[in-house]
Amino acid sequence: DRKQLIVANWKMHKTPAKAAEDAEAIATALGRLPDHSCVALAPPFPALVPVRERLNHTQLLLAAQNVHSEAEGAFTGEVSAPMLKACGCSLVIVGHSERRALAKESDAMVQAKIKAAFSHEMGVILCIGESESQRNEGLTFKVLDKQVREAVKGLSVTGVNSLVLAYEPVWAIGTGKTASADQVQEVHAFLRKILAECLEKDLAKQTEILYGGSVKPSNIKDLMSMEDVDGALVGGASLDPKTFVSLIRNGF
Ligand code: 13P
Repeated sequence: DRKQLIVANWKMHKTPAKAAEDAEAIATALGRLPDHSCVALAPPFPALVPVRERLNHTQLLLAAQNVHSEAEGAFTGEVSAPMLKACGCSLVIVGHSERRALAKESDAMVQAKIKAAFSHEMGVILCIGESESQRNEGLTFKVLDKQVREAVKGLSVTGVNSLVLAYEPVWAIGTGKTASADQVQEVHAFLRKILAECLEKDLAKQTEILYGGSVKPSNIKDLMSMEDVDGALVGGASLDPKTFVSLIRNGF
């Protein structure tokens, strides 16, 4: 059965000390999570180890925001999967639209990163999403189809739960414009169909599909009530611990 998963993507926010303090505040306020529910925090790289230390003996998972496809080498400024694994990450976000846009990450690069994460036993949160102009031109499903297929092409997704999809329409990220719950459900059902074609059928049924883009305490409940919405990837509303905790409480 699929889990419910809410992930905080802190992007380029918080010092290591602040991230650790906020992580502890979130873990303490949440206490025991409901069955089949997970929460993960994705702080910037320098905060991974300090956050990990505060998450010991809690149920919260640690996620990285990016990974390089090679394990080591002359790649100035990059961080590899075995390094992240050694910092205690069990998940890594791959292909976020900000990285596709700002760091020019292609579908092929995204695929190589997924491969690297899998080979070090980390789960992947694969982000996909259409831009506003693509949606207006009616290209949403075509764009998503390509992003998913190219990313998982030739990969053997073995362990259940090793792949999580995150549908993040670019026009909804940080804009306050959330896709409607019905719009999200329509896309998620489509994504599950694509997964069934690319992966084993059973695996597609068990793959969690998250929604991201202006998720707030006030809209999480509607989103989570949709059949194919298994959780959320949250940016802005995850930064303040109190807001994030109320979002989680409303969501689970
Ligand atoms: P916001 O929640 O700030 O819209 O960001 C969404 C996002 O990009 C999460 O990865």
